[in-house]
Amino acid sequence: MKINILSTISYDVSHKESLGFLIRINNFKLLLDCGPYIPQILNENFSFRNNIDAVFISHDHVDHAIGLPWLLNSIVYDEYYKIIDKRTTPIKLIIPNNNESAILKYLKQTSPWMFIKCDYFHAIIEDPSNKPVILDEDLIIESFKLKHSIENWGITIKHGNKKICYISDTLITKQLGLDQKIKDCDLVIFNIGGSSKEKKMCNDYAFATSKEAALLCKSSNVKKVLFTHVFHQYDLKNVVSEATEILGNERVLPISSQEIII
Ligand SMILES: [Zn+2]
Ligand SMILES: [Zn+2]
Repeated sequence: MKINILSTISYDVSHKESLGFLIRINNFKLLLDCGPYIPQILNENFSFRNNIDAVFISHDHVDHAIGLPWLLNSIVYDEYYKIIDKRTTPIKLIIPNNNESAILKYLKQTSPWMFIKCDYFHAIIEDPSNKPVILDEDLIIESFKLKHSIENWGITIKHGNKKICYISDTLITKQLGLDQKIKDCDLVIFNIGGSSKEKKMCNDYAFATSKEAALLCKSSNVKKVLFTHVFHQYDLKNVVSEATEILGNERVLPISSQEIII
């Protein structure tokens, strides 16, 4: 599996807040979250915006979801709004537990000029909240609940003997059972708010700190962790040193990583 880190910034001073990770398994392309700049980044750096196979949206906060209408739009139109419609297979929107209605409603409100109608965009909804979704041969997706300010979901991606977890914005509580979800993962992409120094702020906005996330990953025997989503005003050095102290150098991936191969 190849993971391209498109953008890990949540609240950026330049207002380029965007979350997005591209997972490539053979020819299959799965996008995890689609913040405002993700369609543009995909187009400029990968030139395959139009043939993403599936998109997972964790929750309907702007930095995770607002790029979706633009991405869907680009499947149908070129930049001059001429219909291109080159897709032969529909794009799959992986939206757990009817969060679909919340997400699509939100998208309609923020982009009222767009028709958010799945069949129009050649999109179909897949819901992995009750049973795993099989996306491609031997590519299995499972989702699990997180605890954030609004409904939010994490995702597990299994392919062969490899396992990746994406833990979107969340507090860490025992009830969530995250230790079992990420057990023996080859890679966890973990959205956090900051280090322990910012614990109060993280708590107030329902985010884990790097210390809490690192301890969880250690107890679950996670092989590699990428910490993302750190608020722009906080020092990344504190996040890295705190996490490294718990997990060791090899298991904490550089925050500036662009491509990871698992
Ligand atoms: Zn959020
Ligand atoms: Zn966020």
